[in-house]
Amino acid sequence: MSEPLRGVPAAPGVASAPPWLPPTSGGGVLRPEVSLGEAASRAAAELAGLRTRLVTAGRPEEAEIFGAQALMAEDPELLDGAEALVAEGKPPDEAILAAGESAAETLASLDDEVLSARAADVRDVAARIARILRGEEPPRLERRSIAVALDLPPSVTAELDPALLAGIALEAGSRTAHAAILSRALGIPAVVGVPGLLAAAETATEIAVDGGAGEVYLDPDGATSEEIGRRLGEATRRAAVDAGLRDRRLQTADGHRLMLGANIGRPDEAARAIEAGAEGVGLFRTEFMFMGRATPPDEATQTAAYAKVLAEFGERPVVIRLIDLGGDKDLPYLPLPPEENPFLGVRALRLADAGHEALILTQLRAILAAGEKTGRQPWIMAPMVADLVDVYRLHELVSMAAFGKLWTVQPRVGIMVEVPSVAMIAELVAPEVAFFSIGTNDLTQYLLASDRTNPVLAARQDPLHPAVLRTIMRVIEGGHESGIPVAVCGEMAGDPVGAMALAGLDIDELSMDAGAFGAVKRAVGAVSLGELREAAHHAMHLERASEARAVFDRILAEATSPT
Ligand code: PEP
Ligand code: MG
Repeated sequence: MSEPLRGVPAAPGVASAPPWLPPTSGGGVLRPEVSLGEAASRAAAELAGLRTRLVTAGRPEEAEIFGAQALMAEDPELLDGAEALVAEGKPPDEAILAAGESAAETLASLDDEVLSARAADVRDVAARIARILRGEEPPRLERRSIAVALDLPPSVTAELDPALLAGIALEAGSRTAHAAILSRALGIPAVVGVPGLLAAAETATEIAVDGGAGEVYLDPDGATSEEIGRRLGEATRRAAVDAGLRDRRLQTADGHRLMLGANIGRPDEAARAIEAGAEGVGLFRTEFMFMGRATPPDEATQTAAYAKVLAEFGERPVVIRLIDLGGDKDLPYLPLPPEENPFLGVRALRLADAGHEALILTQLRAILAAGEKTGRQPWIMAPMVADLVDVYRLHELVSMAAFGKLWTVQPRVGIMVEVPSVAMIAELVAPEVAFFSIGTNDLTQYLLASDRTNPVLAARQDPLHPAVLRTIMRVIEGGHESGIPVAVCGEMAGDPVGAMALAGLDIDELSMDAGAFGAVKRAVGAVSLGELREAAHHAMHLERASEARAVFDRILAEATSPT
């Protein structure tokens, strides 16, 4: 077997295909027969086409950025600036790049966050016009391929035909990178954060990715191809079995039920979650709705989005998380000041006290309005809550947003438990909120002091670590003392072994990507609650996460072996 390059598992599935590397610009030759004006019109047409494609694909929020860029491409000021440089003797491709750069610099210097963030868009548009002037093709897949890149910006990813995109392997990026999220939603296997990938892949003619294991094989040898084929067959068989489990509840072998929630990032993912058998939305990561756009969605747009999910889920609970920005999630139109340690910085709820209160109030008003419109009670959840002061601030923000109107539908207000300080005082916080949802991704990173986006530390990010298990137990007990439900919505919930451990710690709900439902139902459903409790308590006394994993693997194997 070939040795794989290891990265962060970003989207499950197995695929093997020739690599495709996004073209780097500058390879073409200037075509004198194409005028600047023609190239600009063509760029505008390409961008308008991209916009239509995304609208048709049900991704209207991402489409908007390309609509705005189509207008920029024909902006007379940009073109006049370039023509003036051509008159001075500059070649047209260099002239448009220079004019784009100067327009971008002007925008960037404005004291207006939204306009200054457009700078990157203008540069992108100018680069597109220059590419057309040089006769270079837009990035396009000719055949089924695995995209191999440092990172894939939205404008490139959106241009690729999803039917030909068999997999994604990125040298940079994290599980929450845009390309990773997109590939999960589209069901395309992806591995990100693979150190040394680009240099190693330079001469490869075939690439295999295992998005579940986080492995990339370059030019797989015979034995590896066979293994990849076996994993593919296994994944296909599993998918068929999982589809058959759709109507089965999430419960232990002796019938102890847990609620099964779906994690979604966009309103149009609700339908897939319901189809897969979700009993509610345990985490709606709303910040993804704010990404890939030129401006934040306004109150009416947000209201419509939340109302869509609330209406589709009907009686079932929908947990809408307040925008969770900062850390590794940034918005071009909301530039956050550079920080030495962004994960410990002005993140999420903390933005309310750092000049962005209006952003959060608009979102809260939209959530309340969506509840009113649909007659469904929204569950509002704040990320990055560190203590009771944050909880009181959260309630204050909800009251401010509700002020001045009579609401017939009252929200339930809860928090994510992902900062160790709030986990330590869970029993003091529980009486002040309606529910807890444990964010094991951040809780693990903060407890183990290990950056979740750093691929070198990936092996340390295991929530089966005894310190994390003990903390989770504490939070569950603290919540139950006050009679509030406690869920887990971090990736641990969608990992079969993680789900078994959580069931053994008496968690009430597991929320995950709908793609993981079947595997989690199978694992939790194989073992009795008593056995899971015993294993979870045993795991808390082990030295390492790998030993805890082995314990659960063993009881699962014993429970499912034919004997
Ligand atoms: C978490 O931290 O576990 C979580 C669910 O939130 P996110 O991954 O979006 O930070
Ligand atoms: Mg988090």
